[in-house]
Amino acid sequence: MTSVDFPKHKKAKALKAGSRRPAKELCSECGLCDTYYVHYVKEACAFLNQQIEQLEEESHSRSRNLDNPDELYFGVQQEMMAARKKQPIPGAQWTGIVSAIAIEMLNRGIVEGVVCVQNTKEDRFGPMPVIAKTAEEVLAARVNKPTLSPNLSVLEQVEKSGMKRLLVIGVGCQIQALRAVEKQLGLEKLYVLGTPCVDNVTRAGLQKFLETTSKSPDTVVHYEFMQDFRVHFKHEDGSTETVPFFGLKTNKLKDVFAPSCMSCFDYVNSLADIVVGYMGAPFGWQWIVVRNDRGKEMLDLVQDQIDTQAVMSQGNRQAAVQQSIPAYDKGVTLPMWAAKLMGVVIEKIGPKGLEYARFSIDSHFTRNYLYTKRNYPEKLDKHVPEFAKRIVEQYQLPD
Ligand code: FAD
Ligand code: SF4
Repeated sequence: MTSVDFPKHKKAKALKAGSRRPAKELCSECGLCDTYYVHYVKEACAFLNQQIEQLEEESHSRSRNLDNPDELYFGVQQEMMAARKKQPIPGAQWTGIVSAIAIEMLNRGIVEGVVCVQNTKEDRFGPMPVIAKTAEEVLAARVNKPTLSPNLSVLEQVEKSGMKRLLVIGVGCQIQALRAVEKQLGLEKLYVLGTPCVDNVTRAGLQKFLETTSKSPDTVVHYEFMQDFRVHFKHEDGSTETVPFFGLKTNKLKDVFAPSCMSCFDYVNSLADIVVGYMGAPFGWQWIVVRNDRGKEMLDLVQDQIDTQAVMSQGNRQAAVQQSIPAYDKGVTLPMWAAKLMGVVIEKIGPKGLEYARFSIDSHFTRNYLYTKRNYPEKLDKHVPEFAKRIVEQYQLPD
């Protein structure tokens, strides 16, 4: 027997549930350590070994061109567009493009399984990662579970089942660890469908966010920070509640976001084959970034189900970002009337399309840079990728 027949990881043991993870408080609970692939954690963990550039080269055959403004912000790409399903999937987060691609891949036999996350029976927001093998199982995973989710915890089952063609749906930190162990999974083909991700929380943090922000926290079935500068909550009875970003109780919410997300610089899921989000698109539309040929192959499967339009960009974000840095730092909360007024003004004259996406990236990268610098100064240089340093350098930061 050679070491190829018996790779070393198979002798490793998953860490016990609830035990401290190697990344300590920075762990995003991506699920890798719940499997024998914990063997690779020092190299693979997004919070122990930031290696986006190198993995971009392995996944897309090149790293992003930092002199191309779109690649600097949104990563390696062949094309970007705004899109929406002609017939939205009821109950999906947006129009259901992610679920639609996954269903086509299963129905056409392109993959044998899809790693995605359903919810537990007891809790609509409690994450339960699965390997879906039917369209029904993919549909049961639709809508965001807005909490840290151990999607990679099912990877050991993939290798044990002998599956050879797999689609993984996930957020940036999950996908970075996945790419780092990709060659060990025994697959012939891996497809990766990513979503952007920011400001994620533990389940307890989510409860605090809902209780601090919504009038009826127990009936929320869905929420999103939308391009109109408001948080939209959808409730069980179908009603919508909106709260302006500028009215969020930043002083109470400062500690709610997971430390992993406060130190993350992979908002746009740099290593996925295709990314489906919303923030670079006009209100009501989704935003798609095709990174490589595999991503294009995935998009082609749903071309007849979607309307598309070119991406647009309007406004100038920079002054708003610069002003928000000290305000966030001091935990300033505006009175609700002022927040609403500011929301209306910003929506009328503020950044739209790709400029809104840049606004959100700049605001989060500057905040996260400060957080990392203050809390993990020894990690700062290696942990912040070059593209993020260039983005942050545009602004004046407090110490
Ligand atoms: P659906 O068809 O409803 O499918 C959603 C898919 O997401 C499912 O397949 C499910 O497996 C997967 N999923 C759900 N929860 C998680 C989770 N916690 N971890 C990993 N996978 C999960 N887009 C932006 O443009 N800007 C953002 O700031 C942004 N923040 C996000 C934060 C989080 C925590 C998540 C999970 C997503 C975020 N997105 C963001 C992506 C966006 O909200 C939508 O998920 C995306 O546009 C797909 O919509 P859809 O209707 O096509 O998805
Ligand atoms: Fe392990 Fe993932 Fe946590 Fe890193 S983020 S310590 S790989 S579970």
